[in-house]
Amino acid sequence: MRENTGPQADALILFGASGDLAKKKLFGALYNLQVAGRLNIPIVGVASSTWGDQDLRDRAREALVEGGHQVDDTHFAALASQLTYVSGDYRDPTLYARLRDALGSCKRPVFYLAIPPSLFDDVASGLASVGLNNDARVVIEKPFGRDLESARELNDVLHAHFPETAIFRIDHFLGKEPVQNLMVFRFANTLLEPVWNRHYVKCVQITMAESFGVEGRGAFYDKVGTLRDVVQNHLLQMACLLAMEPPISEDADALRDETVKVMKAMRPISPADLVRGQYEGYQREPGVFADSDTETYVAVKLFIDSWRWAGVPFYIRAGKGLAQTVQECVVEFLEPPRPLFADAMVVPEPNRLRFRMKPDDTIVLGMQAKVPGSRMVSRNVNLEVAYEEALGGEGPEAYERLLGDALEGDQRLFARQDAVEAAWKVVDPILDRHAGAIPYERGTWGPRAASLLLPGAMDWRETSLPTGDAGQSPSPTP
Ligand code: NDP
Repeated sequence: MRENTGPQADALILFGASGDLAKKKLFGALYNLQVAGRLNIPIVGVASSTWGDQDLRDRAREALVEGGHQVDDTHFAALASQLTYVSGDYRDPTLYARLRDALGSCKRPVFYLAIPPSLFDDVASGLASVGLNNDARVVIEKPFGRDLESARELNDVLHAHFPETAIFRIDHFLGKEPVQNLMVFRFANTLLEPVWNRHYVKCVQITMAESFGVEGRGAFYDKVGTLRDVVQNHLLQMACLLAMEPPISEDADALRDETVKVMKAMRPISPADLVRGQYEGYQREPGVFADSDTETYVAVKLFIDSWRWAGVPFYIRAGKGLAQTVQECVVEFLEPPRPLFADAMVVPEPNRLRFRMKPDDTIVLGMQAKVPGSRMVSRNVNLEVAYEEALGGEGPEAYERLLGDALEGDQRLFARQDAVEAAWKVVDPILDRHAGAIPYERGTWGPRAASLLLPGAMDWRETSLPTGDAGQSPSPTP
């Protein structure tokens, strides 16, 4: 067993095998794990479609082809031979006895619940009714509730049958290589630590912008909105990775203790520090209510009341139908105490360290350097490293990484109950108390009112992509 891992699982049961997430992400992750030699266990799909084993195998191949995988016949045959299917309704108690029979002598199963959250209770208690919760792990998909109260209810449901050490809450964002690199880059480089605090950092900006709209997922999105979909989970997690103290070890609980401490130090966001927007035409999207006020854009100002970050604003914005598809965090440092070498015509830019995670993984450090010539004036230059190019290879896809970790019992990249609840506390005051969503034109950077969250002459930093590069993404991030 590796450090941080538990016993290797001996079966994977995929609830929701016929669903959208399985098709878009999970079969690809399973195939990659198979190719990497990390998946030599039975995989049982469970859903209500009246399928047989071959239908599941056909779906897996279709999903791989549609997902752009180069399917190798030998590897696919090996994967297909592991796949079987059990059909039934999750609310039917007899399903679980059939499932137990299908699992035979397996002792340490992982149950992946890629299903509507309203069914978690039926599945968790159904598994327990036949003893399948013993020595098992359960992987659940976001959303972990709709607010603090429902998140607590969901945790109670799971804890009735599984201990916290057996619950793996997937926030696929944490499985992404560049997101993990935020933490590694901070703590593997001594030179950052002395300046990584309120004495040197002016503000932090976190952007998750998508140039596309809801793309056929209007019915889902209209019930959720940007704040619940990506801010409460992905973007607050990102803020935690930027703001956390060094963990005492790489142990799962040591890492998660530090992120929880940051989350608990976050001041609940005030409605005055929130701007909501909705792109024009959203209400005509299929599945969306004609008078919907669901936000497709959010900007918030957040404070972390810790010794290190007191008074430093964290600006977070996320939205759809924006000018570019880009994800990045920008740490902006204070200006030097006196503007030596400033050009009368150009205000020198402050140093900025950007972690760009989409469309490419790049770290950019903006510094001032002398302009060639007789004058002693400075201009911004970017020291830029393309992460994959410099270090070779892309690393595993997020779902491959996380599914592999769950099979190995490694909880480091999974959200713990206290972190989920602390994150809901941060956004709870603005979930229902807010002004209406401000309409904005597609292809822009959202409502102008978002600029009012920032002081004086400051503005949201344009992203580091060249203007006009829409960074089109073929499909929305799940
Ligand atoms: P889908 O609606 O596409 O799939 C739901 C799955 O659950 C299907 O396999 C369906 O089976 C099965 N199911 C539903 N009700 C029952 C029932 N009563 N009995 C048996 N099977 C049932 O959902 P998604 O795949 O989109 O989402 C699954 C989960 O993952 C959700 O919690 C979602 O929030 C989350 N998620 C999804 C993402 C995505 O991109 N799709 C991204 C991130 C999270 P059948 O079709 O055979 O009836």
